[in-house]
Amino acid sequence: MNSFYTENNVVFCKRLTDIEYLAHGFSTRSGGVSEVEYTKSLNLGYCRGDDDMTVNKNRGIFARAAGFNAGGLAVADQVHGTNIEICDGSKKHYGACDGFVSVTPGVFLSVKTADCQPILFADKTKRIVGACHAGWRGTMNGIAAKTAEKMISLGADKSNIVAALGPCICADCFTVKEDFIAAFEASAPGLLKFIYEKDGVYHADISAMNKYVLQSAGLKDENISVCGECTCCDGEKYYSHRRQKGHRGSMMNVIGIK
Ligand SMILES: [Zn+2]
Repeated sequence: MNSFYTENNVVFCKRLTDIEYLAHGFSTRSGGVSEVEYTKSLNLGYCRGDDDMTVNKNRGIFARAAGFNAGGLAVADQVHGTNIEICDGSKKHYGACDGFVSVTPGVFLSVKTADCQPILFADKTKRIVGACHAGWRGTMNGIAAKTAEKMISLGADKSNIVAALGPCICADCFTVKEDFIAAFEASAPGLLKFIYEKDGVYHADISAMNKYVLQSAGLKDENISVCGECTCCDGEKYYSHRRQKGHRGSMMNVIGIK
């Protein structure tokens, strides 16, 4: 079910908005103060061409629009692995991980993206949230399922976990080569069906892969929402590592318990 909408330059998933204890949002590139041509205007990542003060201002703008406290952001190094940390608010920086979960109010899990898929999770009734960064390696290695499993280890109920698969590169834009296919043959043959050939070029559908990973992990179909907007196709709305050839800002995707 697609239940995404955009308000104040932030993309929301209605299925998550409906859960009262939550704040969440997927950022776009609009509404910020970055002046650099390729980071214009809501760049939320450091070291991408804006000074830190500009990024901090942008984070404040995004936090106000999405309804969370920027001071509670938890950040990760995002190393394309599958390590999932538990965030309890005792620190802001969680090192080498690509996913995290929390039961602590005021902690806002953040995942930075510019083509990779951000996935935000919440238990509908118990106050347990999760977030992960699913590039193709994380997707291949099942990071989406591993994040849900970590939530279950904290008491979440599988049948109540809502997953929102955010904006990412679409299959038309995500062309891949033989080595990519070989990696999936070795590690995740079940996902090969989401790689197809068109006019002699291979394409991979990251959103469809992550949806399948979550279905296979036992999440209910009705609890999985896919945004479907492409970061690479829509240059007005999103940054894209591929389209901008690395010279780009970063979106941030956040979820937490208010
Ligand atoms: Zn596209």
